[in-house]
Amino acid sequence: MNHNLYLTFYPHFERQPNKVLMDTLDGKRYRYGDVLATSRQLASVLLELGVSPGDRVAVQVDKSPEIVMLYLACLQVGAVYLPLNTAYTDSEIRYFLQDAEPHLFVCRPGVFEEAKANAAATSVAHVESLGTNADGSLMDKAAKAPENESVCEVGEDDLAAILYTSGTTGRSKGAMLSHKNLASNSQALSEAWHYTDQDHLIHALPIFHTHGLFVACNITLINGASMTFLPKLDVDELLDLVPHASVLMGVPTFYTRLLDSKRLNRDVVANMRLFISGSAPLLAETHEAFEERTGHAILERYGMTETNMNTSNPYDGKRRPGTVGMPLPGVEVRIADRESGKALAQGETGMVEMRGPNVFQGYWRMPEKTQAEFREDGFFITGDLGLIDEHGYLNIVGRDKDLVISGGYNVYPKEVEQLIDELPGVAESAVIGVPHGDLGEGVVAVVVPDAAQSVSEAQVLDALKDQLARYKQPKRVFFTEALPRNVMGKVQKNQLRSTYTDTFAREGTAA
Ligand code: ATP
Ligand code: MG
Repeated sequence: MNHNLYLTFYPHFERQPNKVLMDTLDGKRYRYGDVLATSRQLASVLLELGVSPGDRVAVQVDKSPEIVMLYLACLQVGAVYLPLNTAYTDSEIRYFLQDAEPHLFVCRPGVFEEAKANAAATSVAHVESLGTNADGSLMDKAAKAPENESVCEVGEDDLAAILYTSGTTGRSKGAMLSHKNLASNSQALSEAWHYTDQDHLIHALPIFHTHGLFVACNITLINGASMTFLPKLDVDELLDLVPHASVLMGVPTFYTRLLDSKRLNRDVVANMRLFISGSAPLLAETHEAFEERTGHAILERYGMTETNMNTSNPYDGKRRPGTVGMPLPGVEVRIADRESGKALAQGETGMVEMRGPNVFQGYWRMPEKTQAEFREDGFFITGDLGLIDEHGYLNIVGRDKDLVISGGYNVYPKEVEQLIDELPGVAESAVIGVPHGDLGEGVVAVVVPDAAQSVSEAQVLDALKDQLARYKQPKRVFFTEALPRNVMGKVQKNQLRSTYTDTFAREGTAA
């Protein structure tokens, strides 16, 4: 049996060639039939360039519908699709190319000459651009190429993609994802979210990350649905699209920005059936404010590059703010002791661990790291800490690497952050641990004040005194205009730690 993920999409291309699969704000429309034809032409070009099954095709191009065609072409020929963050600098790209050793690197037209000149150093056999350039581009070549109709035969564990993790806790690792990993997860999500070919998605996410690529594009393709591409989040453009769409997939920042707009109300969202949030924790207050304004309870889900999507709040049942819901069909989730791996009881906080067809094949060229992240019974150690609450919903309390161990006691940053966030004059906060002479680590809070109101260090410390055990109380509160976030809305705690470690060492504990 051929397990190629592409075969789960293919029937819709045959069935509805005239239906528009993707469109863009500037009025371009891409029908299923045209996308199929172009992807098959691109597949011919890949074969001409000598791309063989298992070869990596690295892609660093600006978001466009052509990327989806290239992704499909890679699947057709059995190549491993390897998207790279468009924000990576030249030296980062060099590192990733050396690590991934792709047969082909598809880049932006602007960096084509330079990437070509560097090809030997990065052991890339071919460099092509996706747009137009003097030497022609993949799309130009595809326009003249025949349609390749064959579909590479793959086993269920063969790789469909390598995706680098976001690098929030250290250097990004290449997560190897099989055809089965991706197909099973899209099926599970479709079931959980009642997805059909009638759905129209607003796609405003980056397309090099698991969220924008696999959650968004795969679910559209596997259901024969459609989507509009926005290059990035623009609240007004998004609100223009909302009356014509049914689903929005976003990160928490999407929702806080939408709430800032006076245009957001019940009428404008009347056609929508689902607002989804993931990739970073959604504040309960955002969830509640959004529901009050629009009548829609945001559905929060939880996933990661290594495992695709793991859990989701229910489509029909109660969506609980501050939780990430329950395991998707086929996914097993347990909470275990960080050290021993022994399963913990409901309500206890520990390591979130995962097993199921969604869980990846390991880290690219890191066999030891891979082995260290799996328990003997096959559960993957996610690196996130959490608990299952009395309703059976998973709560993520933070990352293992962000856990602060102060005087030998565990401090879960989220517990402290939630209390600070409720204080008057506070917009949001991040709690980190910094080296501390007596305690090993000391708790430090970094606070973004509300634009309209002011708040002082003494006020924050005072307010927490009665609410938190002494070892959980911040030793210092620092103020900043905005928390450092990456493009997926994740707070970069590494960056905060390096910034405030020195300041704390210099200035010490609050008087
Ligand atoms: P790296 O692994 O390189 O440090 P990363 O973990 O940020 O980076 P991703 O795979 O993009 O890379 O992110 C997955 C992580 O995002 C999860 O492990 C979890 O910490 C966080 N996350 C995703 N969804 C949610 C959510 N709904 N609530 C809280 N955290 C979430
Ligand atoms: Mg991670």
